[in-house]
Amino acid sequence: MPPTTSVPGKRKRGEGQWKLGYREPLNPNERTKKDDDGLNVRARIENVYSKRGFDSIDPADLRGRMRWWGLYTQRRPGIDGGRTAALEPEELDDRYFMLRVRIDGGALTTEQLRAIGEVSQDHARGTADVTDRQNIQYHWIQIEDMPAIWKKLEGLGLLTTEACGDTPRVILGSPVAGISADEKIDPSPAIDAILERYIGSPEFSNLPRKFKTAISWQQDVAHEVNDVSFVGVEHPEHGPGFDVWVGGGLSTNPKIAQRLGAWVPLDEVPDVWAGIISVFRDYGYRRLRHRARIKFLVADWGVEEFRRVLEDEYLGRKLVDGPAPATPESPIDHIGVHKQVDGRNYIGVAPPAGRVSGATLVALAKAAETAGSRRVRLTPQQKIVVLDVPDRNVTSLTAELATLGLQAEPSPWRRATMACTGIEFCKLAIVETKERAIRLVEELERRLADVSPDVPISIHLNGCPNACARTQVADIGLKGQIVTAADGTQVEGFQVHLGGGLGLDAGFGRKLRGLKVTSAELGDYVERVVRRFVDQREDGERFAQ
Ligand code: SF4
Repeated sequence: MPPTTSVPGKRKRGEGQWKLGYREPLNPNERTKKDDDGLNVRARIENVYSKRGFDSIDPADLRGRMRWWGLYTQRRPGIDGGRTAALEPEELDDRYFMLRVRIDGGALTTEQLRAIGEVSQDHARGTADVTDRQNIQYHWIQIEDMPAIWKKLEGLGLLTTEACGDTPRVILGSPVAGISADEKIDPSPAIDAILERYIGSPEFSNLPRKFKTAISWQQDVAHEVNDVSFVGVEHPEHGPGFDVWVGGGLSTNPKIAQRLGAWVPLDEVPDVWAGIISVFRDYGYRRLRHRARIKFLVADWGVEEFRRVLEDEYLGRKLVDGPAPATPESPIDHIGVHKQVDGRNYIGVAPPAGRVSGATLVALAKAAETAGSRRVRLTPQQKIVVLDVPDRNVTSLTAELATLGLQAEPSPWRRATMACTGIEFCKLAIVETKERAIRLVEELERRLADVSPDVPISIHLNGCPNACARTQVADIGLKGQIVTAADGTQVEGFQVHLGGGLGLDAGFGRKLRGLKVTSAELGDYVERVVRRFVDQREDGERFAQ
């Protein structure tokens, strides 16, 4: 019998928490995970599915466990967004896969970058998107190719392990960790230790849902909307360390993460991370999938109770109280040319809405190496940073990158626009996003050539109510849905959310009732909003204020 007393928090009803005795699967997802660990599908892919082909794949693996190795079936082409919700999963499935490569901290060598580009050219029809979680996402992958892809990627230390699924996903890290003059501690060793100890381990391969982590000295990783974040802060007695945040997340029921009020030194970050994810694994709600993220547990318990359970039941010690980090004045995106601590430079460039290609990545690796760099980082804003560029090569590399469509001095619109995968490949999508975002950027560069706002205005496009491109914390958030055009027809469009943000403006955009715009009208609409803001703006006012 599940205990009915000594239950942390206020919820009386069983929510499927393991720690309270609810071990029987309460929904099909939990059943699939109990039947077999998602990590075990790797052997079947290598030994059976890749040899016998798509039709040999067990449906529970196809739509469930494949994710533990970064694989999702992609959307069958030609199905319009209005039909998405009405179709069964098998009707939406294509025979090709999306494959996500996890790039923890966004950190790549040029050798790894070249391999990623070559895999794209050899196995993914040239596709490669930089996601807002510092991953690379391929499309058009065939199951027969997976052994060769893993051989090439893993040979260089690149993983697809737990890139999707109910697992500890890629860890966001500062794109300038270890080279920035604004950083007191480089948190990369903590990211590396978590990867080594816990990723791919059965200890955390069956979580109630996905678990997103961000670890950075600087506030450049959207720490407010991750499940757990470690943010750099100077303790008055103990020195530099990390402030712990829990329970952030977007999508339906968005929540800004809350501070535990605890200060953690660098070498304790992996243990505290393991304690927090253990609380989630054991007490997380497994009954209803839409309530399974850690944000619901934190909201129900409160952060004080969460911290007490973490300390008493998992760490066996009290954490040190710590101060809140100061919030930066404006968002940090690392675009442009900047000095490193060692006197060399890093150059942040903006592919439009994160879209690149295998050919671009191979060319980028070559250009970086020619300029004397061996390191590249991806950013949580779908951008790319080349590190370690000597002064003498900055101009030539910047020019070379521009020829690849990677601008170091992008327009404000190219710089601050992001888009999720959308209907091109995503089975949940209602509207097209990536190409629409790219066209929108080009339109705004023409329409608003006379306007240069001195504050960033972020524009994020999503293909459905999920918030993969963080629409709810954008200045202009665009949530894809079918809308009614002026002539009464049902067409692709967006519900508008205005004034969301992170940092000083941490909060969710206002969903203005009835404020919907067709995809075709998007350029008109954004131009109008931006011109009105610029005309009416008072000194120092930010868009979200
Ligand atoms: Fe797919 Fe929706 Fe996420 Fe976009 S927001 S990638 S459409 S699930």
